[in-house]
Amino acid sequence: MIPYGRQHIDEHDIAAVVEVLRSDWLTQGPCIERFEAALTDVTGANHAVAVSNATAALHLACMALDVGPGDLVWTSPNTFVASANCARYCGATVDFVDIEADTGNMDAQLLAQKLADAARHGRLPKVVIPVHFAGQSCDMAAIGELASVYGFKVIEDASHAVGGRYRQDAVGCGRFSDITVFSFHPVKIVTTGEGGAALCKDPQLAARMRRLRSHGISRDPALMQGEYAGGWYYEQLELGFNYRMTDMQAALGVSQLGRLGHFILRRRELAARYRVQLSGRGLSLPEERVDRQSAWHLYPVRLQEAARRRQVYDLLRTANVGVNVHYIPVHLQPYYRQLGFRPGDFPVAEGYYQSAISLPLFPGLTDKDQDWVIEALTSILR
Ligand SMILES: *Cc1c(COP(=O)(O)O)cnc(C)c1O
Repeated sequence: MIPYGRQHIDEHDIAAVVEVLRSDWLTQGPCIERFEAALTDVTGANHAVAVSNATAALHLACMALDVGPGDLVWTSPNTFVASANCARYCGATVDFVDIEADTGNMDAQLLAQKLADAARHGRLPKVVIPVHFAGQSCDMAAIGELASVYGFKVIEDASHAVGGRYRQDAVGCGRFSDITVFSFHPVKIVTTGEGGAALCKDPQLAARMRRLRSHGISRDPALMQGEYAGGWYYEQLELGFNYRMTDMQAALGVSQLGRLGHFILRRRELAARYRVQLSGRGLSLPEERVDRQSAWHLYPVRLQEAARRRQVYDLLRTANVGVNVHYIPVHLQPYYRQLGFRPGDFPVAEGYYQSAISLPLFPGLTDKDQDWVIEALTSILR
């Protein structure tokens, strides 16, 4: 089966991990600092906080922005459940903003309308979490402008978009947001096995997330409430977690980031081949906006006849093409329905889901295997 996404591991990656295994540090150690420095280098962010996965990074980001019970957090319905769950971990209320039918991203115009309405009712969100679907950035200038008008904070869920660009910036630089979250799960752009990071400009947000990643514990005498008792002494200042990344993972991350440019180049090449060979076949293909470069995490095509989606999916699987579907709208999950959401609440995301299939796309996909995918799909559609 050709998978829809797959990690790319080379001998350098393996040697980097083995080297850590022979060293004194296995858990959070010197490689974490190197990985965090590499992340700020490639993005232009001031700070990067590496953690155990992107879900943990989203949780810490919400906590660092003081999200709590009674607060509202808005995100996209066209995402993985973690983009919404992070607000629930903090006891906040979740709501969604529908998407653009072409990019699958949060629609900034619908966001503006919903904000105007929320302002009239005195129920503005504290945080908005746009998700860069399939690797293409949302319209961050528009969202950032609304953030300054309405006074909410912005967390970019850039789990798909490591290596993507928006206007003159790398995704993660944070020009229009407070915190950006990356995922290093094996199907994403670069991997650490499991892993994530939160990037930001503000040193205080970074310090808070570092502390929360390790139980809320500090060894900084300046922050202590009791008397400093000696070298062993630490204080737990707030309720944090163990969200640390290991040094083995960070070493893999440093090695992987060294190939980020190659990964993106190959993904772009494969996306361009799909575009040429699949156009005119009754599919709607993903479009890149002129001011953006997608990281091409996914290649989601949409069928004209949504009713055939299940059959096309099954036939592709039978042909050993490991397609997937992104995403079951989050508000339709039983957990979110039980909070009051209903079919019809976010019709664009629901329509997108009905007709979507993600084709295999990863740096190790050969032209030959991609041709097999294209041949299988076009013969099914004929
Ligand atoms: C993968 C993903 C996450 C969660 O990432 P983990 O590292 O697996 O926790 C969150 N949001 C989006 C959009 C994702 O695709």
